[in-house]
Amino acid sequence: MYKDFQAFLQNELKNIEEAGLYKHERVITSPQSAQIKVSTGKDVLNFCANNYLGLADNKELIQAAKDALDTHGYGMSSVRFICGTGDLHKKLEAKIAEFFGTEDTILYAACFDANGGVFEPLLTAEDAIISDALNHASIIDGVRLCKAQRYRYANANMEELENCLKLAQAQRHRLIVTDGVFSMDGNVCPLDKIYELAEKYNAMVMVDESHSAGVVGKTGRGVTERYNLRGKIEILTGTLGKAFGGAVGGFTTGKKEIIAMLRQRSRPYLFSNSIPPMIAAAGCRMFDMMAETNELQDKLHSNTDYFVAKMKEAGFDIKPTESAICAVMLYDAKLSQDMAARLLEEGIYVTGFYYPVVPKNEARIRVQVSAAHEKEHLDRCIAAFTKIGKELGVIK
Ligand SMILES: *Cc1c(COP(=O)(O)O)cnc(C)c1O
Repeated sequence: MYKDFQAFLQNELKNIEEAGLYKHERVITSPQSAQIKVSTGKDVLNFCANNYLGLADNKELIQAAKDALDTHGYGMSSVRFICGTGDLHKKLEAKIAEFFGTEDTILYAACFDANGGVFEPLLTAEDAIISDALNHASIIDGVRLCKAQRYRYANANMEELENCLKLAQAQRHRLIVTDGVFSMDGNVCPLDKIYELAEKYNAMVMVDESHSAGVVGKTGRGVTERYNLRGKIEILTGTLGKAFGGAVGGFTTGKKEIIAMLRQRSRPYLFSNSIPPMIAAAGCRMFDMMAETNELQDKLHSNTDYFVAKMKEAGFDIKPTESAICAVMLYDAKLSQDMAARLLEEGIYVTGFYYPVVPKNEARIRVQVSAAHEKEHLDRCIAAFTKIGKELGVIK
């Protein structure tokens, strides 16, 4: 039975490999951190994790998770509405709402599920979703599962958004959806202008804060802090898998009736397991830490400012960024791969991206700065970029 399909897959895989698009995975044998060990035994500096606040190996979070293993066990073995709701889940939901200044929160196994399960329960064929062209894959998939009329505008293009909103007056309800930070460029969505247009054209707004939560805004409360719009946005989604400790878990937070409806109808919530108690406990501890001190956010912001300034000084072409993502533009696909490989030899772990992950002829190396990085780490990274950049003719 399998023979024909096997041959078909083998051929497809070969095509992927030959096109140079095969994704090879490097194996890490240490905790996720600024400095990691890869399976070749080499110690490298990590500049490609979403570990923005450096919490992935934080001692307090590890202890909170260990304690919860003793008090609450290992797994829930249930979806939330049958017997998968623990006191820790309720606590975490409340803490997330407090952090973002929202009314209520619903947890998911991942933000991919939060986005996959947010549109279909809320909107029907009578309604409209207006989506930024660079939105995350999980938003695109979520929109596909919903029957609402779809509109799309070019990344952060407010003229196009306004045109979409005019057309969407034909529908009953309108929802504008955007990433908070776009992951390949590091730019922040123009939420002030989006909000203005939403008011003018009677639309709701949803922001995916996955790359912005913990990062953007003076205290890391995300793009609603950055634009003074706390409590004004109907729907926020986010992940516990990036700045917030990097384990696993996602959430939707916002207006209480919206969250209530999601608890009734959102399929990834109703038909998928509850997150483990230890993750909820560590999450609670993490949000308590955020409330106690702004130390990590401050360090991340000063690290990012320093890194971007020094890289520009060295002559690199850096995309304008307002996040911890620094796109070093190289334009040529092969150059991005060669440079990343040479940097790894120098002990700097970064990833080169090229088409179709980014537009054609816009290949780049995406550097992700973290509060876990010490100045010495940043300096070693900048020095390696400068050395290899010169060697490969990227800078003079
Ligand atoms: C990473 C990411 C997700 C997925 O989050 P998970 O919790 O890992 O599923 C969703 N949206 C955006 C914008 C992301 O960057």
